[in-house]
Amino acid sequence: MEAFLKELSLASKHLIEFRDMYDYANRVKTFKTWPFMGNCKCTPETMAKAGFIHCPNENEPDVAKCFFCLIELEGWEPNDDPWLEHTKRPSNCGFLSLTKSFDDLTVEEYYLLEMDRLRTFLVRASMGIQKEIQEEYKGYKKR
Ligand SMILES: [Zn+2]
Repeated sequence: MEAFLKELSLASKHLIEFRDMYDYANRVKTFKTWPFMGNCKCTPETMAKAGFIHCPNENEPDVAKCFFCLIELEGWEPNDDPWLEHTKRPSNCGFLSLTKSFDDLTVEEYYLLEMDRLRTFLVRASMGIQKEIQEEYKGYKKR
């Protein structure tokens, strides 16, 4: 039960925080300590254009996550093309499917986009919860 609530509160925290990440400049700002700068394909600018934000941790300094579909990629090489790497993954990303720039969306288009994003976050949270429940169930059966 506790894990369930933790998962839900993390999902809603990210759902709210990542809303600012529709803005390209805000996404670029997350790449302050990104290991690939300058003469390569996956610069902070190209990463941000492809929807990524930088989410490093102690062991993996190059973890990038799409703010919209939440796909996480690591192990980047200088010649990786962020847009290509993102489209290669079967995430059905609503951000990648945008046919116009975010600022040109109508209110209705933005609403639909946000519904899509909400659905993605809920699916992701429920997957985490299912895993927790299964682990707990397994632990219980072993007793
Ligand atoms: Zn995405």
